[in-house]
This record gives sequence, structure tokens and C-alpha cells, in this order.
Amino acid sequence: MTIASLPLRTGLPIPRYGQGTWGMGERAERHGAEVAALRHAFDLGIRLIDTAEMYGDGGAERIVGEAIAGRRDKVFIVSKVLPDNASRRGTVAACERSLRNLRTDVIDLYLLHWRGSTPFADTVAAFEDLLRAGKIRAWGVSNLDLADMQELEAVPGGERCATNQLLYNLTRRGIDFDLLPWCRERGMPVMAYSPLEQGRMLGHPALLSLAHGHGATPAQIALAWLLRQDGIIVIPKAATPAHVEENLAALDISLGDDDLAALDRAFPPPQEPQPLEML
Ligand code: NAP
Repeated sequence: MTIASLPLRTGLPIPRYGQGTWGMGERAERHGAEVAALRHAFDLGIRLIDTAEMYGDGGAERIVGEAIAGRRDKVFIVSKVLPDNASRRGTVAACERSLRNLRTDVIDLYLLHWRGSTPFADTVAAFEDLLRAGKIRAWGVSNLDLADMQELEAVPGGERCATNQLLYNLTRRGIDFDLLPWCRERGMPVMAYSPLEQGRMLGHPALLSLAHGHGATPAQIALAWLLRQDGIIVIPKAATPAHVEENLAALDISLGDDDLAALDRAFPPPQEPQPLEML
């Protein structure tokens, strides 16, 4: 399957569907199955992998490094720096650690995982150093609310923020009110994380009913709702080949107006600004 790409704010194309890795690299007995799930994803045409230095304390990055051996050129890697490491020097050191874990010499997209106490200007300066050194191809942020994004945009280089990775799924629609439109106005795609609400939403009657109607599964309906939107990149995590395949098939589901109205009734959009949620 060929998965379409969309441009990051900086123009770099990024696949609109990828694979998450949170929870991978934590237990030795699952190592082989996790590497195999990622390789299976690549074999099916998935090119985007989302990871972070936080996941498994580097363990998830090492799983990714093992899984991409021999096919680095075909994979788009996203990783993230922890806020405690996000000083000008600390960010560069963290990136170099991640590059070693990932067994590569460049990270395609490098994100600030969430806002900490380091001023944005220092982290952005480090990201720009890494861009110039060819160690990353683009940078962005995660878990930043509207006021944070406005502050970020005002620092030197802040306008090169390529994306904001955010908690977004049918049960977490707060960003629909203001943050998502703000990002869209700037041509900045949003990466929707925990698109399945980590599995908690999958027994919802509205999803079960629509899944029944489409001959699909609740997970596929939840992902199709995100995939139908402009400027959204979706990164479900799946550690079994069956889940990888099931989720990927969501790309073939198209929801009609009646389906969307039913989902809006079951999962109402926000009517006023909401504080940003994160997991
Ligand atoms: P998620 O993708 O919403 O859900 C993953 C969970 O759902 C796993 O337990 C998985 O089980 C299960 N699952 C997957 N496909 C399924 C299916 N078809 N049917 C039933 N269950 C299914 O949650 P997530 O891992 O939190 O989010 C996805 C990715 O986003 C993460 O892995 C991470 O890369 C990223 N993320 C980023 C942040 C951030 O702060 N930037 C925060 C959270 C997540 P199996 O593992 O057994 O397949």
C-alpha cells in the first residue's frame, strides 16, 4: 500500500499515517515481537515511526534502530527530547544519544516532548544548530497549547516549527475549538497521538454501531474519523501484526455525512476553549 504524504510547515513531506512506539523497549521478553511488529508495518508500506528518548528510557529507539536496519532510507523517523534535557547543549547531546540508539545519522523530525522550564529560545536555537549540522531534517513540538504556540512563534526561528503533536481522538476533541484551526491557518499539520485513546474508547456503543454498519472494527472507525481530516497525521501504536493490519485498513474506510453526524452526537465537539489535555 502507498500511504499519502502531506507537507510539514517547512515543506518536508511526512506520511499521514504511521506507527507509535510508546511502551516498546521496556521488557526483554517482548523485544523480538516488537521488532517483528515494526518490520511487519514496514512490509505493509508504513514509513513513519514515532518514538522518543523517554519511551523505555531509550529502549523504544533501540527497537526502532534494530527494525529499520537495511531500510533506513525508506523510513521517516520522529523522536523527541525530554524537557529536562532541552537546554541548548542538552538538546544536542540528547539528539546524539537518540541517533546512536536509532543507529542512524539523521532524525527526520525532532520534537520537544512537552514544555519544561527551559526558555523556548534556547531549545529552538539548539534545534536550529541540529538542522545546520544535518542531524535533523525538521523540528517541532508536542503538547503545547495555543498560548505556548504563540509564544514559541515569537522567538527567533520559531516560525520554523513544523508540527505540534497532540492528544487527539473522538474522546479528546478540545483542540477542535481553537488550537487545531490556529495550526491549520499556518499550514502546520497536527500529529494526533493516542488516536485510539489507548484502547479505552473501543467499546463505545456509537463506535460499535458504526463499525457494524461498515463491516469494520471500532478502532478502524476511530482512525478513519481522524484520517478524513485535512492536516492530520495519525500514529496508532500496535505491537501485534494483527493490530498493525487492522489499523492500516482504516485508510480504506470513508465515513459519510450521516456517520460524522452520529459521531458528533456521541462525541460532541467543544463549544468553548478547553485546557489542553495530555497523556
Ligand atoms: P493508542 O495508539 O491510542 O493505543 C495503543 C493501544 O491500543 C495499545 O495497547 C494497542 O495494543 C492497542 N491497540 C492498537 N490497535 C488496536 C486494535 N486494532 N484493536 C484493539 N486495540 C488496539 O495509544 P498510544 O500508544 O498512547 O499513542 C500512539 C502513539 O502516539 C504512541 O505509541 C507514541 O508514539 C505517541 N504518543 C505521544 C505522546 C506525546 O506526549 N507526544 C503521548 C502519547 C503517545 P497492542 O500494543 O497490543 O497492539
